[in-house]
Amino acid sequence: MIPMVDLKNQYLAMKDEIDRGILETLEKCQFILGPNVSAFEEEAAHYLGAKHAVAVASGTDALHLALVAAGIGPGDEVITTPFTFIATAEAIRYVGAKPVFVDIDPKTFNIDPGKIRAAVTSSTRAVIPVHLFGQPADMEAIEAVCAEKGLMIVEDCAQSFGAASGNRMTGTIGKLGCFSFFPSKNLGCYGDGGMVTTNCDEMAARLLSLRNHGSRIRYHHSEIGYNSRLDEIQAVILRAKLKRISAFNEGRRRVAGLYSSMLRDTGIKCPFEDGKGVHVYHQYTVLTEQREKIMENLGKAGIASAVYYPIPLHRQEVFAADYAQVSLPVAEDVAGCCMSLPVFPEMTEDQVNEVVSAVKQVL
Ligand SMILES: *Cc1c(COP(=O)(O)O)cnc(C)c1O
Repeated sequence: MIPMVDLKNQYLAMKDEIDRGILETLEKCQFILGPNVSAFEEEAAHYLGAKHAVAVASGTDALHLALVAAGIGPGDEVITTPFTFIATAEAIRYVGAKPVFVDIDPKTFNIDPGKIRAAVTSSTRAVIPVHLFGQPADMEAIEAVCAEKGLMIVEDCAQSFGAASGNRMTGTIGKLGCFSFFPSKNLGCYGDGGMVTTNCDEMAARLLSLRNHGSRIRYHHSEIGYNSRLDEIQAVILRAKLKRISAFNEGRRRVAGLYSSMLRDTGIKCPFEDGKGVHVYHQYTVLTEQREKIMENLGKAGIASAVYYPIPLHRQEVFAADYAQVSLPVAEDVAGCCMSLPVFPEMTEDQVNEVVSAVKQVL
């Protein structure tokens, strides 16, 4: 059995530290916004090179609160990619704004910066690039369009903790960076969790208020906020994993390197790296016309595989009627032939060999 991600092994390797931290929290009985949350925020901000990090209850909330803090609302348009998890577009809708989908680059699967300019209208306020599968979006090109058009950048870093564009970590390039700590993410806790990073003092202050019922001083409420806090137990787990995140990401890159060399010349299209940043391989996603057969064969061999994502957002039932006239051929093609293979830091060379053999049997 080879899973997509081996959370059990990762836990066992750090069990003593995590168990001890959780038990200490149970003894102290401070469960919400305690000392581990503040320490984690400081440590994560330091690791990423961001001035502020504000922990929240999920990656979806990170995106939602970031858009509220950015002042985006009804009548506004926000440009993003159609090839992402639904949460990116949900957050835009939560604030009453309209997602405008721009097609992707077929090599990186990220938003194609060359197509952003044509989608900008007088209502466009922001662009949300998603660093999909751990591959940084082309931030220099995106920054150039956004500077020219006066648009804010809000990064969706749910899959890219530790990835870099040039020498800048994702989440420190736009005005706001949104992270998810869903268990299977590169940095994951044992429940839901998320975080917003920013270099802007006012945004950080606003986020601290928004996540806690619009309150900066206890029982004084200056605006309608939310209940969106990271809990202390999750912060304990995240602090333990943050210490190891560089090694985790290096492990993912090692596995990806093995796959790409073993799958060379098979006709399968392996992930592209432009060499300008650091890809942290949240997923190892390939393109192949034989997706169904390969997945079936992997399944028989007890090897997990998955399709991220089978339907681009403009074709999802919830959005289909509003975007019937929109055609985004690259995203539609990629959705039709992409598949992701298991990748996790603890994966052994033998396991990679096993996956590759099962793939090659079909070819
Ligand atoms: C996981 C994910 C989210 C949402 O994060 P949650 O913590 O599950 O709410 C948002 N965007 C992308 C690209 C994701 O992969």
